[in-house]
Amino acid sequence: MSKHAAAVIQLGVLAGIIALVAVGLWQIHSDDPMLMSIERSRPDIMDTNCQLRAIVPPDRRQAALEALDNAVAALERTESLLSAWQPDSDIARLNAAKANMVVMLDPQTVEILTISKDLTQQTGGAFDVTCAPLFNVWRKAGKTGRLPTNETVDRALQLCGWYEGQDERYRLHPDSVMKLHDTAKVDLGGVAKGYGIDLAIEAMRVAGVAGGLVEVGGDIRCFGAKPGGRKWRILIKDPFTSGQADAIGVLRLQEGAICTSGNYERFVEIEGKQYSHIIDPCSGRPVDAAPSVTVVAPTAVQADAWATALSVLAARPEGPLAALDMLKGTDVEAMIVVGTRKDHKVHKTSGFDTLLEK
Ligand code: ADP
Ligand code: MG
Repeated sequence: MSKHAAAVIQLGVLAGIIALVAVGLWQIHSDDPMLMSIERSRPDIMDTNCQLRAIVPPDRRQAALEALDNAVAALERTESLLSAWQPDSDIARLNAAKANMVVMLDPQTVEILTISKDLTQQTGGAFDVTCAPLFNVWRKAGKTGRLPTNETVDRALQLCGWYEGQDERYRLHPDSVMKLHDTAKVDLGGVAKGYGIDLAIEAMRVAGVAGGLVEVGGDIRCFGAKPGGRKWRILIKDPFTSGQADAIGVLRLQEGAICTSGNYERFVEIEGKQYSHIIDPCSGRPVDAAPSVTVVAPTAVQADAWATALSVLAARPEGPLAALDMLKGTDVEAMIVVGTRKDHKVHKTSGFDTLLEK
């Protein structure tokens, strides 16, 4: 995803300018020759590319290289557990399992399922990984180029949800899950990148680097010291231009995650019309996605899922302001751009505004 976006890291005196593929543009200014930044990229992961960066004093170069190895390994492991398309992944096994079978899973797979279930509740049902049967209907429509019938959509909708009436469709245990029906299936496409980024950041922290940044397909999380002790600068791509470096805003983050969902990123074409890859679990149909939704949150899982959820909520008749109201009392901040290039509006939470460079 995010093929049209770009990132630039500027390392002041340490290095030149490196162009990356990402939603944001990040910059590190260095006045501090005591810290250096070591970078790594890993193409072809989670259907996209990944860039990582570790900040260390020059005598800790080896530790940084190990930290980066561990972070990449965490991303690879996340993909091999959660990809629905790798036949022996945890998620593929869970989806293929029959009703009432105990499916043994890695505790991290159960953890992300549990987090996803909480997120369904927090987002009022706008984010729901159990809607795989529905996502599959629209994925197939994208492939065949033919719209599904209302009946097909309604039938798929009936298979979605964490509950069927009072009954749980999925019984989550620390290292296993049991499904109520054969047809219950999950799709973690909306959180897998975020979860992988969080695990990669954790691997870097454990390895003892002073600071770091992990970016997967435009979703970013950063932490810790930067050369010069300044905040990370993350540029939010202008959704109305194709220029890699055009920004509609610049965020300054001490640490945290930032994810952007945009209708310029991923869509399918069916019967001559473009449809978003984000589906409203309520209507069962692709959302008329806002040009861009950017979320800042403590973890990448939260930012990733909320970017998808706000894309759903902003497209409903209640509109983007009601969507942002859902964030009251949380530590999630967001900005939603609606409209067209000529006539657009930018809505943001006050907390998001304070993070923007003025
Ligand atoms: P974006 O970065 O545009 O938010 P993501 O890759 O994070 O895109 O999420 C899109 C993927 O999430 C879809 O391909 C699908 O697998 C899944 N998805 C779509 N709609 C929803 C939804 N309402 N809730 C949870 N997951 C969704
Ligand atoms: Mg997302």
